Amino acid sequence: KGLFVMDGSRRSAHANAYFTGFGRSKRVVFFDTLLRQLTPGEVEAVLAHELGHFKHRHITRRMGLMLVLSLAAFALLGWLSAQAWFYTGLGVQPHMAAPNDALALLLFMLVVPVFSFFVSPVMARMSRRDEFEADAFAATHADGADLSRALLKLHQDNASTLTPDPVYVGFYYSHPPAAQRLARLQAAAVG
Ligand SMILES: [Zn+2]
Repeated sequence: KGLFVMDGSRRSAHANAYFTGFGRSKRVVFFDTLLRQLTPGEVEAVLAHELGHFKHRHITRRMGLMLVLSLAAFALLGWLSAQAWFYTGLGVQPHMAAPNDALALLLFMLVVPVFSFFVSPVMARMSRRDEFEADAFAATHADGADLSRALLKLHQDNASTLTPDPVYVGFYYSHPPAAQRLARLQAAAVG
């Protein structure tokens, strides 16, 4: 539905671009900082990457997954709120004859991060897989070399490290390290 330019320079020098929305409200957003730094060919390659996210339905799939996970979490909360051991196990004495909803919600919020911690590498990995897919799409519909140059400029400008710790990447990186993305783009260009 539109190509938007975000007035990002007012807040920081950070440069970025993203695709968001679904149905009739899909849009690609570029930071003005990005447009200022990239050549037209590089802008086209970044646009192709964002359209790759659309083509592969990454946003829709992500929203669907979140919906299912949220419902599952609420179902679990509903079930736990009726279990006496859930309260006593956390050192709280419930009054089972009266509603414990607020108490259950509070305890649930305290406990969930302990378990969701182990879900984060799985989610991060899925996100990185989507990035590789979007890169591959960009390399076939635009110039892969342009995308490589744009990626390098982004990393340079955002002062992000080119050699992150692999374990940290596994847990927290939603995007693959630049070296991996460049290597794949190069391999695609050769092959
Ligand atoms: Zn992306």
